[in-house]
Amino acid sequence: MGQITLQQVTKNFGDVQVIPPLDLTIEDGEFTVFVGPSGCGKSTLLRLIAGLEDITSGTILIDGADATAISPAKRGLAMVFQSYALYPHMSVRKNIAFPMRMAGVDKAEQDRRIEQAATALNLTDYLDRRPGQLSGGQRQRVAIGRAIVREPAAFLFDEPLSNLDAALRVGMRLEISELHKRLKTTMIYVTHDQVEAMTMADKIVVLRAGNIEQVGSPLDLYRAPRNVFVAGFIGSPK
Ligand code: ADP
Ligand code: MG
Repeated sequence: MGQITLQQVTKNFGDVQVIPPLDLTIEDGEFTVFVGPSGCGKSTLLRLIAGLEDITSGTILIDGADATAISPAKRGLAMVFQSYALYPHMSVRKNIAFPMRMAGVDKAEQDRRIEQAATALNLTDYLDRRPGQLSGGQRQRVAIGRAIVREPAAFLFDEPLSNLDAALRVGMRLEISELHKRLKTTMIYVTHDQVEAMTMADKIVVLRAGNIEQVGSPLDLYRAPRNVFVAGFIGSPK
């Protein structure tokens, strides 16, 4: 569970085509990074996969099923935003429980998943606090916890670390990589940061103006960048 296939997917905003026909397959369990400069369409692509935006044409398949027929809530994908989007008036526990409450998960199972997520994310001592009483890194962990408890087929991260300072970013990068190793769930991670892309990805998708310039492992891209744009962006010696 967790294979995502895009076939000839396009997205127009009015007269402007921000995603020209795009084909891409993300394998189950893969950590895929979408990287490219600001405005190149990374967030749009992620939102199309999540179902937060409608595609203009083409097909998105999730585990072989046509995603357009499936409402965003039922796609089994959990989105983690840079802005955390936590409820300020709710405790950490209630924030993490919220999507399970919406999905009608029973209370004992909710508690079990909260404990598990809190342990994995080092949040056990913070469950009764409110988001305002937490550091930026802790808030980002809560947002990830809220995604984990849904037991999604895939996690979609949109620049989740860009609000954090440099030192904290390095730590959170490692935590997310560890989480991926442990859960082995498909993760799509959007960033404009080459270092994040090169250190976290199994597979990097380099985007420019909605076009895929190259897809490959960090080593592939470093050793054999297809063009000067990729070379410049990845910082390889071509
Ligand atoms: P990125 O996440 O790579 O910075 P985005 O996906 O946010 O890029 O944006 C890609 C392009 O689509 C940009 O030119 C942006 O202005 C445009 N765009 C994004 N969302 C909308 C929208 N809701 N309406 C019109 N244009 C949009
Ligand atoms: Mg963006």
